[in-house]
Amino acid sequence: MLVERIWAANSLRNFNYLIACAETGEALVVDPLNAAQCLAAATAKGFDIRQVLNTHEHRDHTDGNAGVVAATDARVLAHAGGAGAIGGVDRGLARGDVVKVGRTVELEVLDTPGHTRSHVCLLAHGDVPALFCGDTLFNAGAGNCHNGGDPGLLYETFVNQLVKLPDATRVYPGHEYMARNLEFTLDREPGNREAVAALEAAKARKPEEARVTTMGEEKRVNAFLRLQNTEVIARLRERFPEVGEKPDARTVFVKLRELRNRW
Ligand SMILES: [Zn+2]
Ligand SMILES: [Zn+2]
Repeated sequence: MLVERIWAANSLRNFNYLIACAETGEALVVDPLNAAQCLAAATAKGFDIRQVLNTHEHRDHTDGNAGVVAATDARVLAHAGGAGAIGGVDRGLARGDVVKVGRTVELEVLDTPGHTRSHVCLLAHGDVPALFCGDTLFNAGAGNCHNGGDPGLLYETFVNQLVKLPDATRVYPGHEYMARNLEFTLDREPGNREAVAALEAAKARKPEEARVTTMGEEKRVNAFLRLQNTEVIARLRERFPEVGEKPDARTVFVKLRELRNRW
């Protein structure tokens, strides 16, 4: 599997991805924003875009659909529940579906509500597993729930699906918020030394050169995956004494999401 990350260079800091078969050059584009930019990236790599996949219905993840389809005649894939809002969807996806790219790439569809009700992540199995996670999991953070989402559902997605993935899984999110999110982790867990080092490293890089993290790293520096950490809980209790001494993971997650909304 070949992965080409495209930095959209916009204020929302979107990442788009080309996922291609190394044997045939056939490609799928994830969440195209600027069609011309995605098409140029495919041409530069010699890829032939055959499919478009939207992780969810927000415009910053779908605006490039029409331009890519007009130029390539690609099929559009999206969560069956979000297809109506997106429009022009050829294949509605559900949990467990498999999306094939060329001869060698198979992507498993995960149904991952929370950021919106109808959100899919793609999981590539293989020697090095990879997760294309849209606005669900970010580097060192989690998606917001402002536009059709639900923090309780996002928690369920994290705990029931994402944390169970192998530590080696590479994480390809829909936005570049690494430094900002690490600052939030350190606000919640100032003693996290790996997060201090990761923040320094992130600040030294341009967004288009941001490191690709793994689930193992995320578990060490992402506050939303550190729900039983004693410092995280102690700091949370300073703000929300009502959570008690041993808050459950769901409560910690939802309160962290609430804090991050205003942070
Ligand atoms: Zn979104
Ligand atoms: Zn987004």
